[in-house]
Amino acid sequence: MKRLTALLLALLTAASLTGCEKEPESAELSLFAMDTYMTLSAVGEGGGEVLAEISRSINVLEQQFSRTIESSDVSVLNREGRISPDTDMDTLLRLAVQYSEETAGAFDVTIAPLVALWGITSDSPRVPEQGEIDALLPLVGSQHIHRDADVITLDEGCAIDLGGIAKGYASDAAAAIFHQSGLTRGCANLGGNVYVFSDDAVDTCWNVGIQDPQDPSGWVCTLALDDHFVVTSGGYQRNFTAEDGTVYQHIIDPATGAPAESDLLSVSVIAAYSGDAYAGTRADAYSTALYVMGERAAADLWREKNDFDMVLVTTDGRVLYTPGLADCFTEAEDSCYVYQQIAA
Ligand code: ADP
Ligand code: MG
Repeated sequence: MKRLTALLLALLTAASLTGCEKEPESAELSLFAMDTYMTLSAVGEGGGEVLAEISRSINVLEQQFSRTIESSDVSVLNREGRISPDTDMDTLLRLAVQYSEETAGAFDVTIAPLVALWGITSDSPRVPEQGEIDALLPLVGSQHIHRDADVITLDEGCAIDLGGIAKGYASDAAAAIFHQSGLTRGCANLGGNVYVFSDDAVDTCWNVGIQDPQDPSGWVCTLALDDHFVVTSGGYQRNFTAEDGTVYQHIIDPATGAPAESDLLSVSVIAAYSGDAYAGTRADAYSTALYVMGERAAADLWREKNDFDMVLVTTDGRVLYTPGLADCFTEAEDSCYVYQQIAA
């Protein structure tokens, strides 16, 4: 791990980056896209133009992946059951199916009918009857997505929701642009999907704070990283409280059709940038899946894959992290959590 010479705190869900050692040629840009606030920052000559390019690229992707934009590829596919996708949509759907298989269906973009039924992040969330859930569950599963030559079709009644993966894909696009830019440092904080960039020649890291799910103004730990994605999923930000006081959060367990009842408060997946391997997209899908799976199955999947790191915050007050993070991991001061490394 490189020496930490600049303390730059990318709070995972905060709207702005703070604690930045200002250098003369630095730029920042904020935007609202993909239903979240995003903050981009860059150090180096021409940083403003690079950030504008990243912002344009995110907006283009949103036009294709949004469920609420009627002309998007996703809306067309959900409405008409078929589409000749452009390259990004084609790639993202291929990856989505792959990650669904890798996570035994815990991540699945065909969850859309149940996301709509519960409407957790909509203006009118509600707790449906079990019969309504049972009627929709057969529509969930990546086997309902078919690819024939350059046409993608969905089985009758099925729909897709890229909310659990599209920001990850956008972070991969940001990473590619940073790498081609000639800048020395950059950061894209896409609402829970963070990518930090340091040019190889620069001896600096970013300090990425993992938000405390129980106190969103604080964090449970910081990670000193360069050229990595840090993607956090949890139930603590997008949820609704029913009349009886039950809190329902927005990640649905495809096995039950109901909001996942996880023993985790949050999952952060940390993955190194690796060219065009879509590490940010994968980290986004995995963070959603690992939340659904819970502590034990998440640790099992990590051991099986052995190619990413993670920080789990459990409902019983522990912060678990993989040994690969030991050198870059700093516990929060005065924390009431118990910190444990996950056994390999
Ligand atoms: P966020 O979008 O808040 O960063 P996630 O990446 O975990 O959080 O994605 C959650 C979103 O993904 C939900 O709001 C919904 O649109 C969709 N979703 C919910 N459950 C699943 C699931 N099991 N698999 C795939 N997508 C899901
Ligand atoms: Mg996700």
